Amino acid sequence: MDQAAITGESMPVEAGPGTRVYAASFARLGSLRVQVTGVGAESTFGRVIALVEQAETHRAPVQRIADRFSAWYLPVVLAVAALTFGLSGNVLATAAVLVVACSCSFAMATPVAVLASVGAAAQQGVLIKGGRYLETLAKADVLLIDKTGTVTLGRPQITDVIPLDGRSEVDLLTLAASAERYSEHPLAEAVRTAAAAHGLALGEPAGFQALPGLGVRATVDGTTVAVGGLSLVPDAEAHPQVRALAGLGKTLLAVTVDDRLAGVLAASDTLRPEIPAALAELKKLGLTRIELLTGDHQGTAATLAAELGIPFRADLLPQDKIAIVGEYQAAGHTVVMVGDGVNDAPALAQADVGIAMGAAGSDIAIEAAHIALMREDWTLVPQSVRIARRTARAIRINIGFTAGYNAVGLSAAAFGILPMMLAAAAQSLPDLGILANSARLLRHPTPGRYPAADTEPGKAADENRPAAARQPGPPVARL
Ligand code: ADP
Ligand code: MG
Repeated sequence: MDQAAITGESMPVEAGPGTRVYAASFARLGSLRVQVTGVGAESTFGRVIALVEQAETHRAPVQRIADRFSAWYLPVVLAVAALTFGLSGNVLATAAVLVVACSCSFAMATPVAVLASVGAAAQQGVLIKGGRYLETLAKADVLLIDKTGTVTLGRPQITDVIPLDGRSEVDLLTLAASAERYSEHPLAEAVRTAAAAHGLALGEPAGFQALPGLGVRATVDGTTVAVGGLSLVPDAEAHPQVRALAGLGKTLLAVTVDDRLAGVLAASDTLRPEIPAALAELKKLGLTRIELLTGDHQGTAATLAAELGIPFRADLLPQDKIAIVGEYQAAGHTVVMVGDGVNDAPALAQADVGIAMGAAGSDIAIEAAHIALMREDWTLVPQSVRIARRTARAIRINIGFTAGYNAVGLSAAAFGILPMMLAAAAQSLPDLGILANSARLLRHPTPGRYPAADTEPGKAADENRPAAARQPGPPVARL
């Protein structure tokens, strides 16, 4: 499948049974039979259209400056014309003043540049919901990043199944997977995948409840089962086996049955390979304060943060993430937040610029964010900043050029040096200048050089590939 229209990734992606394919993609070879799961506005393509429409209604602050400028520009022009006529009585010079000033280039200065950039960005797989986010992104200095699914591939594998109440490993995994049956969380999928790998038959959970940042709770076969972080059970870390696993940087999940600890599952996830280079580049681009925010526990977060060489805060609930964003904002910083999950959505909305990782990520995160990356590729983050910087510069050039040009034109006309015909011709010149300057934005900025991160075609689609096709990370636990 060629999904370039959606993801910007020109390499075709392998599709097989169970793969999710986007509307607006092309079958390059062979044929396939697809089941429609969403039509129109529900499709990714439909969401892209909605985002673009939304972008049009969110104006850039610079655009408002241009609007305000236009409001007093007209009276000034009329005054200059009146003055010219009053002092010289020259009708032609007065008309020349009105003609040369009749330029729509102020109104064009921002939207044309924003349009060019939003379009160029979309081609590369970066959906920007409005010109104002380009403006803000250009001056951002703090970058907050979520861990699971954002810094890591978000495809954890269950590596250990440790019953602590005498039941069998198979029983523990079956219970956990049944409770997780309807959760969208990457850890839930890991638990289900592990259960499926051992051919376990899952029970049907009743009263399923998802607690963002904590875990899930459901009734399975008459017992209440909860799966979630170690904070679910205060004394979980008292077990030596649990402590040993925590030291390895694994994510630990406590499984409780009727509120008593039944066992622990350990999951391990893989760091996205292109992250270190992308973070280094973002630092160079002025995002000097970078911090990892996670709902995972201290031990896991510390291991990962050390690997990336950035500070971290762990054991966070969604509301804690919002509070941290607010903290930085109150201190006068412009905050960019990158996240993917349901638990990140509030913080993404609160941030000055929220970036949702991967169109395959959670719909809520994409909805809440201001920029959506259509490919799960960190190189798109510095790329977005670069696009924003370029746009801000082009807009300043557009406005400066127009202001200068009109000042000269008006003066020349007022003093009668500019003949009528020339004034008419000169009038459209700044528009051409703005178009030419903004058209430069259609060219893609040179992306940073990264080591061949993940040469698999179409990473965004990984999630959609049949389970058998993805085998990164550690082997699934043996029971
Ligand atoms: P992050 O902030 O790193 O993206 P989340 O906030 O999504 O992580 O999750 C934080 C923690 O909450 C996880 O490490 C896990 O312990 C627990 N958790 C959340 N949802 C689930 C779930 N569906 N199943 C098991 N554990 C979960
Ligand atoms: Mg996450």
